[in-house]
Amino acid sequence: MKILAQTSHSDIAKVYVASFADDRIVEFVESTEPPIPKADKWVLIISTMLGCPVGCKFCDSGLFYGGKLNEGEMLRQILFLVENSYPDRKVESKKFKIQFARMGEPALNMAVCDTLINLPTEIDAPGLLPSVSSIAPKGSEKFFDKIHEIKNDIYKNKFQLQFSLHSTNQEQRDWLLPVKKWDFKTIARYGENYFAKGNRKITLNFALGAGMEINPNVLLDQFDPEIFFIKLTPVNPTYNSQKNEIKTVFDENKENGKSIIESLKKAGYDTLLSIGEIEENKIGSNCGQHILNYMKSGHKLNQAYTYNLEYL
Ligand code: SF4
Repeated sequence: MKILAQTSHSDIAKVYVASFADDRIVEFVESTEPPIPKADKWVLIISTMLGCPVGCKFCDSGLFYGGKLNEGEMLRQILFLVENSYPDRKVESKKFKIQFARMGEPALNMAVCDTLINLPTEIDAPGLLPSVSSIAPKGSEKFFDKIHEIKNDIYKNKFQLQFSLHSTNQEQRDWLLPVKKWDFKTIARYGENYFAKGNRKITLNFALGAGMEINPNVLLDQFDPEIFFIKLTPVNPTYNSQKNEIKTVFDENKENGKSIIESLKKAGYDTLLSIGEIEENKIGSNCGQHILNYMKSGHKLNQAYTYNLEYL
């Protein structure tokens, strides 16, 4: 793997652009949460595909699709970052989260499972917390069965699983995530089977756009609050979210969407509003962002992608 470029200095996050053989170009990210020291929390976000075939309406990674990454290509992204900070591959960070979430829908790539299986043999990281986030595409049953097995056999309660729903209205969900998907009933039954006492709850994520429905009663029909947890996030500024006129409900103003949070809590759900660092929008390291695709679009966004790429 050859590093082609990286974003200019920031204590918060850095995006790397790298190439594999045949000019297969990926982006991956490392981030911290100042003032929390890296020794306490460090997050890596790696790609599982070249672009993404799903094409969610708010995501710049889905603007093209060039195939899946193999296990070696995923491990290389992780090992590059690990060896940069810990040359002996002994990661001291107490919470060391690896998200399979830059480019690609992980459930469409079985090599993600091989990467998860072999990861603990490649690095010594007691704080390791892998995190798989998926829209639950139709046909991914084999992937999720394997994830269940991997969680039980290797990671136990140190594994995070997230389903990205984004709306409780099926028509809206089909517009936002334009592929065939598991319905809520299928996700809920899978979760009930997957979840064991002492495990982390499964996250249901809503990057909520204005006008998108989040109805606690629809959720309660299927999702047990003892098993599922709700995470609310902003729709980050991307070329695609602007093109599709999706405006975020949640932003730095914590008052926005307060009634939504209250209604979810009242329904019994543990609910977290995760705004993250706004600076990350400018770096281009946030969820749904993809620097090269943004650059290709020739578009200009005010509050995003303003950091320079330094070519190496
Ligand atoms: S949000 Fe995830 S599944 Fe959707 S296009 Fe982006 S990378 Fe693909």
